[in-house]
Amino acid sequence: MTTSAFAELGLSPALVSALTAKGFTKPTPIQAAVIPRLLSNQGDIFGQAQTGTGKTAAFALPLIERIVPNGKPQAIVLAPTRELALQVCKEIESLRGNKKLIIAPVYGGQGMREQLRALKGPVDIVVGTPGRIIDHLDRRTLDLSRTRFLVLDEADEMLNMGFSEDVEKILIQTPPNRQLLLFSATLPKSLERMVQRYAKDPFYIRMKAELHTESLTEQWYVDIKEPEKVQVLTKLIDAATDFYGVIFCRTKMEVDSVNMALHKAGYASAGIHGDFKQSERERILQQFRKRNIMILVATDVAARGLDVKELTHVVNFSLPNTPETYVHRVGRTGRAGQKGTAITLVSRRDFRNLQFIQRIVKADIRRMDVPSIKVIRRIQLEKMQSQVLAQVNDCHEGHIHLAKHLLAQADPIQIVAALVKQQFGDRALLALDS
Ligand code: ADP
Ligand code: MG
Repeated sequence: MTTSAFAELGLSPALVSALTAKGFTKPTPIQAAVIPRLLSNQGDIFGQAQTGTGKTAAFALPLIERIVPNGKPQAIVLAPTRELALQVCKEIESLRGNKKLIIAPVYGGQGMREQLRALKGPVDIVVGTPGRIIDHLDRRTLDLSRTRFLVLDEADEMLNMGFSEDVEKILIQTPPNRQLLLFSATLPKSLERMVQRYAKDPFYIRMKAELHTESLTEQWYVDIKEPEKVQVLTKLIDAATDFYGVIFCRTKMEVDSVNMALHKAGYASAGIHGDFKQSERERILQQFRKRNIMILVATDVAARGLDVKELTHVVNFSLPNTPETYVHRVGRTGRAGQKGTAITLVSRRDFRNLQFIQRIVKADIRRMDVPSIKVIRRIQLEKMQSQVLAQVNDCHEGHIHLAKHLLAQADPIQIVAALVKQQFGDRALLALDS
């Protein structure tokens, strides 16, 4: 059995079979390094590995193994955004197999009533955002006195100015001998002191000591002039055979305006940022995961850590502020062994910043031209053809019968044209040569 690789790390047969069911056959490097240590060791850990390499399971599996349910929260997992808290919660839920562990998500925007009810009952693992967890601590509806594990996911973000005070408030309510587990893709120098301050002589597990982007992702930049940005963006989308990706913007306002422009041009896009209501954000992400929405226009905060299967593209509509942000953005694609493409739009005044980012992340970011109309036409035509031809052998006998009916009514070319119009709309005309 290929899954014995997980068993060799010390995981129980029950968990190994849960992993098989989930389709995990082989531990990722960070998992291979973290799991045995966390299964047996009491010390604090700082784990650093590229985005999309399974850091969640790296800490979740040993926790699931080590927790003996007693009705009181023994593990607290903190994440910077609600979406991430929910995602981590679901991942842990899917990893626990048959083990009777109760995992409660606790984040703002979710019904307080429901949360209170969940926290009143037995809970073994709490996954949440710092703000809402502090709410519950203040109301005394959450008791951290039995905490054995405190996890900071996206640790660099959690130790950053905006969050560190909240994290500290939570930290001091946990027993001094609990294990602190920090996980992140990046650790800027400026935050190393923060790690030392909270963690007791942490054991560093670094898969890549350097800031680094996933090698499975091809990285490009495109020279643009500011006023042409949206137009270039649509060309990039049209020139991709199957664009399913995230467009990163710097501000909420930019998210709104880019999304609006895409919408008007007929693309299946949606915007997401901090001003949206929680329920709305969840709905949008669900639509995106189901591929009803193919293009997500997002701020950095809204998309941090998001794990959406098989994204083909990340586009930096605006340059990220820091090299770390670049790594996090690009890391939304090329995940779990899949290939991806990252494209950064660069105006003249951005260029030096791009060079700086490139130097720090040691990435090979190559220049590409704005796709020409000719290329776009070819791709659109191919796309249309392959979609139709894929169906050709897939038609029911009834459909063929109906086709014969139709063909008796009008000219075959006109009939096909009508169907093309109905299926692909006016955007299909993009594929035309005049
Ligand atoms: P990270 O936190 O490092 O960015 P995630 O924990 O979000 O990465 O995992 C990325 C994706 O890889 C998830 O969809 C997860 O289910 C999947 N994954 C994790 N470990 C494995 C594994 N050993 N084999 C296959 N897929 C995995
Ligand atoms: Mg993660």
